Amino acid sequence: MDFDILRNLGRKVKKARYFNGVKILEESLMKSFNDAWNLVCVNCKSKITDVGYNIWISRIEPVSLNFEKGEATLMVPSDFHRETIENFYLPMIKESFKEVFGTDISITFITPEEDKEEAPKEASSTSFYDFTFDNFIVGSSNKFAHAAAMAVAANPAHAYNPLLMYGSSGLGKTHLLYAIGNEIKNDNPDMKIQYVKGDDFMNELIESIGNNTMPEFRQKYRQADVLLVDDVQFIAGKDRTQEEFFHTFNTLYESHKQIVLTSDRPPKEINILDDRLRSRFESGLLADLQPPDVETRIAIIKRKADSLNLPISDEHAQFIANKIKTNVRQIEGVVKKLNARYLLNNEKITQAVVSEVISDILNNDAPPEHTIDMILSEVSRTFGVKPEDIKNQKSRRSNINHPRHVAIYITRELTDLSTVTIGEIFGNRHHSTIVYTIQQMEKKMQTDSNLRDTIEDIIKNIRDR
Ligand code: ADP
Ligand code: MG
Repeated sequence: MDFDILRNLGRKVKKARYFNGVKILEESLMKSFNDAWNLVCVNCKSKITDVGYNIWISRIEPVSLNFEKGEATLMVPSDFHRETIENFYLPMIKESFKEVFGTDISITFITPEEDKEEAPKEASSTSFYDFTFDNFIVGSSNKFAHAAAMAVAANPAHAYNPLLMYGSSGLGKTHLLYAIGNEIKNDNPDMKIQYVKGDDFMNELIESIGNNTMPEFRQKYRQADVLLVDDVQFIAGKDRTQEEFFHTFNTLYESHKQIVLTSDRPPKEINILDDRLRSRFESGLLADLQPPDVETRIAIIKRKADSLNLPISDEHAQFIANKIKTNVRQIEGVVKKLNARYLLNNEKITQAVVSEVISDILNNDAPPEHTIDMILSEVSRTFGVKPEDIKNQKSRRSNINHPRHVAIYITRELTDLSTVTIGEIFGNRHHSTIVYTIQQMEKKMQTDSNLRDTIEDIIKNIRDR
């Protein structure tokens, strides 16, 4: 076991940011904790027998890590499992954590049942990522949205209501949305700030209809003092979700509560958005975010490198800024990756390393040729069904046929795959079925403008990813 790597990863992880709530852990951070947990496991494995490891350790799942507080939560399959681990393996696990993170971490074990019980509590105790106004770099491309966000944060419900910020992926919409949340929470600790992503609003709604918990769902959103809705475009086209959101919006608006929305495009370009919602969204302030100019890009690179203690020359910062022009997320990706190489391999940052990292990021992030996975994830998100069900021939859910037909049609539109291959992908269907499905969809689209808009929007989402 290479403990240098362990220790270095410990440092890397330490520099990443961690947040309290399980439910709001960002995926990339979660990945860091997953990676770190894998290292903890490797470390444990070297200390106990294979059998002991397989039975007790391998079934633990990482849930959350709050590095600042030195607390980790791990999920175990049952109470019995927890007792055994606490009695026999806890010291070893803690020691391994210490080796990986370089510091003591206290550990809480939860069972799947407890996780469920805790979920609502965590979802409501809003805690935001470390996205603040302080670490947002302002340039001509985003100064309008930034100023609007600051005004709303300083004066919730009295400046602009609703505020809708829009722009392509990776330009800082979520950052500003969280910054508003952070600022309001700082100034008004008692205010209830509710953050939700458009598609989660839909998923929660579906779940609460199924569980008969609509009153709780409504209460959660309608009693907020500030409602922050990220990627609101995802509620478009879903009747029940739009209806529910419309009432939520009105309730909050009428009682002078602040609403802030983000979207990947202006309301008038969300084809399948309900007109009533469109006019609500347009009734406040619309603020767009454009790709940053080169000075702003350089400033972002330097600030990010600084926060990671990564030494980076002006020349390299400029070089990166000239190569990556339209997406701050990619710019940050380059800096993070450089930092990883610097920490993990003790590598000096040379021009060659910078170029290599840039091409890695561009290749990884460039939309891979409209793959089936993207199609499945967009279609499933649009219709609120599971990607597996779309592919699975045996799925007998009655609501799955339509999404499946849409997915088949879009696959044919966006890929060069033959109908035989498409048939194989979608549950081993005969190619004649695929041909028939596509013909039917084309026919329906001629008369059903709603369907046409839905499909156009899905295709746009896939192309923009
Ligand atoms: P979006 O929601 O528009 O897709 P995000 O808000 O998630 O984009 O931004 C992507 C990443 O880029 C985040 O890590 C964010 O902190 C960073 N970022 C974007 N714009 C800026 C900026 N002007 N200054 C500093 N960081 C930024
Ligand atoms: Mg976002």
